[in-house]
Amino acid sequence: MNRRNQPQTQGIGMTSQRTRARMVERLRKEGITDETVLAALGTVPRHLFVEEALASRAYDDDALPICFSQTISQPYVVALMIQALRAGRELGKVLEIGTGCGYQAAVLAQLATEVYSIERIAPLLAKARANLRGLRLGNVRLKHADGNLGLPEAAPFDSIILAAAARQLPQVLLQQLAPGGRMILPFGSSEQVLRLVERTRSGYSETTLDAVRFVPMLTGVE
Ligand code: SAH
Repeated sequence: MNRRNQPQTQGIGMTSQRTRARMVERLRKEGITDETVLAALGTVPRHLFVEEALASRAYDDDALPICFSQTISQPYVVALMIQALRAGRELGKVLEIGTGCGYQAAVLAQLATEVYSIERIAPLLAKARANLRGLRLGNVRLKHADGNLGLPEAAPFDSIILAAAARQLPQVLLQQLAPGGRMILPFGSSEQVLRLVERTRSGYSETTLDAVRFVPMLTGVE
């Protein structure tokens, strides 16, 4: 196998498996209890998803800048959202809106049967594609599109996760949830909270979780 194509999961110092184990330990202390989610975060080499200049900070619990003024989500928030979405069960077929650099998609791929991820900024999606290629994940599909429309051709989804904040509950996405399916999203504009919506037999039930800070969900593509 061509060495350059191998995921660089080995390494020393900040990029090592041990650094990731420390990140997981920190998440556990911060209250993440779903060991399956923690194991997934412990597997994905986050340093491959950030600019080289920031690689040494890849395992800090910070959101970091990526290009086009977007950010790679904070590990704690990724863990919290996926934990809430799972609630101890399988994620099944997942739709992610806001691929960014692809980090969360890689985490989801460890836990889901299939991951569909949509990004509206084409060069960012190209970057995510390159980042994910090295990890050889067979169950992730990326699409350049406006996530507000969801992905009707692959619906329904067991789980939907938004990585950008919506001002209103996106009805189109709710309709693409399978019965019993769940959607988690940052909700609001200047003040945002995480909201978990479950599709029940008779409609939808909603729960509000922690305060968060995400980039806004925009419309159209670039
Ligand atoms: N999931 C990423 C974080 C992405 S940040 C990670 O793991 O780090 C949020 C992303 O949502 C940005 O890349 C932004 O371009 C994208 N986004 C915003 N509105 C969108 C829309 N309507 N459709 C698709 N992507 C959108």
